[in-house]
Amino acid sequence: MAQSAIEWTDSTWNPVTGCDKVSPGCKFCYAEVMTRRLHAMGQANYANGFKLTLQPHMLTKPLEWKKPQVIFVNSMSDLFHADVPLDYIQQVFDVMRRAHWHEFQVLTKRAERLAELAPLLAWPANVWMGVSVESANYTNRIDHLRTTGAAVKFLSVEPLLGPIPRLDVNGIDWVIVGGESGRTPRPLQESWVLEIMQQCQRANVPFFFKQWGGVNKKAAGRQLLGQTWDAMPVAKEAVLAAIARPLRVRRGELGSGLSLQPARLEGRRLKVGGPAAPLNSAYSPDSLA
Ligand code: SF4
Repeated sequence: MAQSAIEWTDSTWNPVTGCDKVSPGCKFCYAEVMTRRLHAMGQANYANGFKLTLQPHMLTKPLEWKKPQVIFVNSMSDLFHADVPLDYIQQVFDVMRRAHWHEFQVLTKRAERLAELAPLLAWPANVWMGVSVESANYTNRIDHLRTTGAAVKFLSVEPLLGPIPRLDVNGIDWVIVGGESGRTPRPLQESWVLEIMQQCQRANVPFFFKQWGGVNKKAAGRQLLGQTWDAMPVAKEAVLAAIARPLRVRRGELGSGLSLQPARLEGRRLKVGGPAAPLNSAYSPDSLA
């Protein structure tokens, strides 16, 4: 298990490594940069560099990790890449089903293949399926995502490369937004982020602002309108259970948005109900209108 610095997950699991670029969001692919480093360090799983490679010896790893985690699947690849055989994807899904104490986050840019294969996959409740949407030109990926049987459907709007004034979040449980980082990042405008946040709040969809990005992403930070935005998919059942039997939920997490963070629910399985965004800021959903 690799602990992850990514703000919206705990750990990463890479049963596939390597990829190919498919759209403008891939231009400064983080996985490609990391792969170069790991290859130079002699890490066996990266011997093929960024060429797509199945890593079958990694398949059952989550079953060995006893502590419940939120696990980002294939942070170094794309599970729905055309060169990943269907039966291999089915094996990955089977492991996720068997490792039911974890929550798994699968993210793809190959939304067409996702929709094509979705009926051939079993969708356990602990699998969150997401698509990347870097600009208004790729919102059709959301339509493909909606056709899947995933219990939690999410969008990674990162790196956000332009305004998305009509982001249809109907049927979507979670939206992550972030800017690009690296040596030559493409700029992110605050108005683009606020516009998406506004659309999420109007639709009551949890909104997570990951980072501004830039050359020095640490310095740029991740505050928006003077606060962080860390909403995660809400589990209505967990909320009700928390009321019936007090859980160790951190102060403030059951505010007006009833936002719970699954990783803090001591590994209990979450079933996602109606999502909510944190509404505890001075920001009003209509302040941009
Ligand atoms: S799909 Fe993801 S992993 Fe593949 S090249 Fe694009 S950004 Fe990198």
